[in-house]
Amino acid sequence: MTFPFDEEILSLPFYEERHRTLAGEIAAWTAAHSGLWTDAEAEDEPEKTELSIIRALGEDGWFAFLNEGLNESPDKSVTPDFRSLCLRREGLAYADDLADYAFSIQALAAMPILRHASAEQRVRYLPGLAGGSQVAAFALSEEQAGSDVAALQLRAERAGDGYVLNGSKAWVANGGIADLYTVIARTGEGPGALGLTAFLVPATTPGLQVHDRIQTIAPRAFAHLTFEECRLPADSVLGRPGHGFVVAVEVLDRFRMTVGAAALGFARRAMDAALGRAAQRPIYDGRLIDLPTVRATLADMEVQLNAAALLVARAAWELDEGRRRFARHSSIAKLYATEAAQDIVDAAVQIHGAAGLVADSPTGRLYRQIRSLRIYEGTSEIQRTVIAQSLDLTRADRRAPSASS
Ligand SMILES: Cc1cc2nc3c(=O)[nH]c(=O)nc-3n(C[C@H](O)[C@H](O)[C@H](O)COP(=O)(O)OP(=O)(O)OC[C@H]3O[C@@H](n4cnc5c(N)ncnc54)[C@H](O)[C@@H]3O)c2cc1C
Repeated sequence: MTFPFDEEILSLPFYEERHRTLAGEIAAWTAAHSGLWTDAEAEDEPEKTELSIIRALGEDGWFAFLNEGLNESPDKSVTPDFRSLCLRREGLAYADDLADYAFSIQALAAMPILRHASAEQRVRYLPGLAGGSQVAAFALSEEQAGSDVAALQLRAERAGDGYVLNGSKAWVANGGIADLYTVIARTGEGPGALGLTAFLVPATTPGLQVHDRIQTIAPRAFAHLTFEECRLPADSVLGRPGHGFVVAVEVLDRFRMTVGAAALGFARRAMDAALGRAAQRPIYDGRLIDLPTVRATLADMEVQLNAAALLVARAAWELDEGRRRFARHSSIAKLYATEAAQDIVDAAVQIHGAAGLVADSPTGRLYRQIRSLRIYEGTSEIQRTVIAQSLDLTRADRRAPSASS
């Protein structure tokens, strides 16, 4: 059984004994369930594969943290342990792209319910999502509004006691297989981002349609949605009217670090493949790994892996400790880990030579699968913007050398 984590990093004080135990459980689960994603048709039928993975994860308690929401009073927001969530993504991403996708979208889409739902909404939705019998999706982006959330146009207008939704959503992960969509719509309480509200919309609601199933370079359940005269009762509102932006931003602020964790899983798999290839490939009078340039590439990959793992661990620890500036560390971890993973996967392809580009080879698949991580949940450019905004300018004032010094 391959251990998908770095034991030295796990032994650092960022982690507790329960996290080290969890890492072992993740390694055992992914080894025992690899048939779910290694079947010949797994990538040809991503929706079917993903549903099977979500069911298996649910049955084996991977989403049990969602049940914590049933025991807390509705005025208390529940935040699960993010070091555990990050380790789960890292281990699943090491095993397979769709395994990570299945876990992460369900967890992300359920998070706003955990944090903002009424007692009745929690009881209605959380048990099915926790057990994996129900699938969730989070619909924020629109064709003209990805990074620019304030440009959202999907309208939710008051009609009697409830609302009517008209418009569309784009790039929805789990679109087409979800039973429940958390939809951010414009209700107009204020301008731009201030006039948005979150709604819980069952997939069976008349007027909600999967408009287009999207094929991407790494096959996944992914779709555009349309809403036409889609009527919702008043109790579909998640949280408070006008607070949709807060609902969206606070889930993304938290989940960004888990994208970094997934990047780490993909990158470590690429590193292991590169090391294996370099150690075995005969070349000239020795092996590839004897060549100084190849060794230097492997050393650079190792440094990037370590830096990414430390940044992800730190971000999750900041959040679990309740520290105020965790979101800045979440952005730093996502930016660095996803960019580094892209470099590491590319270097692994290079070390494999032509064999690294074979479409169905581990490196060929990783090359396709890693790309989206620098785009979803805030592009790298948006992370840089957020990090720059978080810089402590008073520190710069204090440290700037005076003209006379
Ligand atoms: C695999 C995947 C899954 C996704 N899942 C979901 C989902 O479940 N739900 C959902 O709602 N959305 C989802 N998305 C959509 C995703 O959130 C958006 O793609 C992302 O926010 C970027 O928006 P965009 O694609 O419209 O690009 P744009 O916002 O048009 O950006 C285009 C380019 O401009 C750059 N740019 C934009 N603003 C700035 C700025 N201020 N400064 C510098 N550069 C800037 C971007 O970095 C990017 O390089 C998913 C996307 C992918 C790829």
